[in-house]
Amino acid sequence: MELSAALEGNRDLKERVERASGVHIEDCYQCGKCSAGCPVAAWMDYTPRQVIRLLQLGLGEEALKSRTPWLCAGCQACYTRCPREVNLPRLMEAVRQEARRRGRVNDRKVDIFDRAFLQSVERYGRAHEMGLIVQYNLQSGQPFKDALLAPPLLMKGKISPLPAKIKNVAEVKEIFARVRARGGDGH
Ligand code: SF4
Ligand code: SF4
Repeated sequence: MELSAALEGNRDLKERVERASGVHIEDCYQCGKCSAGCPVAAWMDYTPRQVIRLLQLGLGEEALKSRTPWLCAGCQACYTRCPREVNLPRLMEAVRQEARRRGRVNDRKVDIFDRAFLQSVERYGRAHEMGLIVQYNLQSGQPFKDALLAPPLLMKGKISPLPAKIKNVAEVKEIFARVRARGGDGH
C-alpha cells in the first residue's frame, strides 16, 4: 500500500512538472550533452541529466531533495546543446516551484534571492540592484554582507540608490497577474 502511494505521488509529481514546464520528460535520451556544458554542474549533487533520469524512473522525490534545481542559473546552455530540445531551465524552474509548493525549499538563500529579484522586476519592470542586495542581505540575516563594496559602486554610478522604472510597468505587472491567475506563484 505504501509503495503504491509512493509510486502514485511520483507519477503526480512528474505530471505536474511536465505540465508546468511544457517539457516531455521521456524526450530525453540521456546523452549527457546538457551536463557536459553546464557551468555549475561541478557544484550540483545530481547533474542536469541525472535529474531528468530521476523523473523518468519515477524517483521524483529524490529530484525534489536535490540542490541542483536551486543551483541552476537558467543560462540556457543545456537547452542550446540538447539534440532533443529538452528545455531544462524550464524543467528546473518547475521542480523548484513544486518543491516550494510542498514546503521543501532546499536552498533558502537562493529562494530569497529569487523572490527578491522577481519582486523588483514586478515593481519596476527591471531589477533595482541596490534594493535587491539590501532586501537579500536583510532577509538572509547578513545585513552587512559586501557593504564595503557599495561606496565605490555608487561613486562610479554602477548602482543607484533610487530605482529606475521602465516606461510601461503596467504591462509587466499584468504578466505577473496572469501567471498567478494560471496557478503560478509569481514569486
Ligand atoms: S542533452 Fe538533452 S537528450 Fe541529452 S541528456 Fe541532456 S536533456 Fe537529455
Ligand atoms: S540552464 Fe541550468 S542546468 Fe542548464 S546549463 Fe544553465 S545552469 Fe546548467
